[in-house]
Amino acid sequence: MNVMIDLHTFYLLTWIWIGLAVVIFLVLLTGRITAPYGRYTREGWGAFIGNRAAWVIMEIPSLLLFSFFFLSGPVPHDAITWLFFAMWVFHYANRSLIYPFRTRTREKKMPLSVMFMGMFFNLVNASLNGYYLGYIMPVYPEGWWKDPRFLAGFVIYFTGVVINWWADGRLISLRRDNGKEYAIPYGGMFRWVSCPNYLGEMMEWSGFALMAWNLPALSFAVWTVANLLPRALNHHRWYKKHFPEYPADRKAVFPFLL
Ligand code: NDP
Repeated sequence: MNVMIDLHTFYLLTWIWIGLAVVIFLVLLTGRITAPYGRYTREGWGAFIGNRAAWVIMEIPSLLLFSFFFLSGPVPHDAITWLFFAMWVFHYANRSLIYPFRTRTREKKMPLSVMFMGMFFNLVNASLNGYYLGYIMPVYPEGWWKDPRFLAGFVIYFTGVVINWWADGRLISLRRDNGKEYAIPYGGMFRWVSCPNYLGEMMEWSGFALMAWNLPALSFAVWTVANLLPRALNHHRWYKKHFPEYPADRKAVFPFLL
């Protein structure tokens, strides 16, 4: 299969994709629209599908498409690009095949429209990043692993992974004690912010963008912030509205700041 496109078109598409993220960020920031899944699930977004199946179907294209483009392209891979591949696969193997089965949302549903939007995002995002590393990116310069961008990105990415995994686990375990109800999460990073899982995720892809130092990786970081920063602000407002005893000094997503 010939999947070659010229460089100019590729960069143009990626810039348009980044522009779309900025528009969506501004719309979500108004707080008028909240993606209708999880605590914001509501009627009016079409037919529903089981939550667990929705997460698998929505996320798995990212694992498959990125791998396809990375592995099928003509660009020779070195230790650096294999590391990027491993980081991506590690994240999306969790998100598509492990995380959905850890959540305690068996009876919960997600609108199919939301699942398709998530899927569309993953199709484009994985294609841009996989294609870039498989078909466009020449090997990184000698000694890139010693570059401050690579080293800082590495630390930020893996710190983000630890925060995200820990916070996801903490939220999931709340359901063990509280059934279908929501409860105030305590402990760890929850001491400072309402959504450490989103903070961790934003750190992961910002770190990845720094390490990879390319436009598609930057677009992923921008999209992650565009999706999760407004959602964290909504969660924070939601907690304060539903729990009068909610810790007053806790921020939404960035400790001591926001
Ligand atoms: P949420 O924090 O809304 O929910 C995570 C899980 O914990 C859900 O199963 C939720 O149940 C449950 N939960 C959350 N808060 C509570 C609480 N207070 N009491 C009891 N249970 C709770 O996260 P998302 O579902 O939005 O995201 C899940 C993961 O996916 C995160 O790690 C996030 O970073 C990542 N993600 C990444 C995106 C990206 O653009 N890169 C976009 C979206 C998500 P319920 O579903 O019933 O609310």
